[in-house]
Amino acid sequence: MRDNIFGLKIFQRGVIEFSNRCHKNCHYCGLRCGNVCLQRFTLDENAILQAARIALAAGMGTVVLQSGEWPDANAHSIARIISKLKALGDISVTLSLGDHEGDSYALWRDAGADRYLLKMETFDESLHAKLRPGQSMRERLQRLETLHRLGFETGSGIISGLPGMSDTMLANDLLRLAELPLDMIAIGPFIAHPDTPLSSCTNGSMPEALRAMAIMRLLRPTANIPATSALDALTTDGRLQGLAAGANVIMPSVTPESVRTGYSIYPGKNSSQTPVPETITRLQERLRLAGYDPSSMRGPSPHPNPSPEKRNV
Ligand code: SAH
Ligand code: SF4
Repeated sequence: MRDNIFGLKIFQRGVIEFSNRCHKNCHYCGLRCGNVCLQRFTLDENAILQAARIALAAGMGTVVLQSGEWPDANAHSIARIISKLKALGDISVTLSLGDHEGDSYALWRDAGADRYLLKMETFDESLHAKLRPGQSMRERLQRLETLHRLGFETGSGIISGLPGMSDTMLANDLLRLAELPLDMIAIGPFIAHPDTPLSSCTNGSMPEALRAMAIMRLLRPTANIPATSALDALTTDGRLQGLAAGANVIMPSVTPESVRTGYSIYPGKNSSQTPVPETITRLQERLRLAGYDPSSMRGPSPHPNPSPEKRNV
């Protein structure tokens, strides 16, 4: 099914993880504010632009700005960075900055951001509330609707194998994802982080994550589906297995070596100290060996949002 839509082209998105500061306390995540063991960092504008230049030179058609969450007061500085990123060349800019005010989303869209990734994590209301203290599934869903209305190509997804997630919940999550007007759908397995309340829980399973991705591809043939880095945390060729299960997108980290280990959402994330260009060249070689064609295209959705709401901003 993947080959029918995308052939063997794999879209490449370079992820710039520019800050590990977060005021949220999600139980599964190593960046949660309750984790006092973590040294916090935030990259300045120049460092972010430099990481983007490296991503472009390495053949990425999209850069993704990702971070923990912080108050909306910083929204204007993010908008300035987005316009500078767009001026670097013919690239798409994706944001993965979590929950913010609708005004901030609109500001960033007007600054030129093309896409927004906001994972639901799970649609099960009680599990969602338990693992994301103080937050509700419904509010997150409303934010997704706002992003779609603003004309972003919108992405969401889930963590498979979350502690407390039954097979029925996972099946329901896949159906809910398939119903939404999503351009991108990310499914990554849960990886237990030692400095979180879920430290002693069992990791998500590889076969379950792969099966969930394959089902998602069948339910939504044209969606952009990444082989998430969390797959590589379970096994060395995890992302390649994800591509074999129907994914068509790869999202290598292009975060500078000096800070990358600090972006430890889960163990194994960004653990390599190899320079970014070399890591990407190796990944591209592995993709080619497996028969894929790593593409520098922007790789938009095959069915763009037809009628973004007109806004006065
Ligand atoms: N702060 C933003 C974006 C950064 S977190 C947000 O929360 O939306 C990016 C993603 O990392 C989350 O959406 C979640 O799906 C994933 N994640 C966090 N902790 C994880 C863990 N322990 N195992 C697997 N995925 C995890
Ligand atoms: Fe913060 Fe996102 Fe991690 Fe939650 S998942 S603690 S919002 S970085």
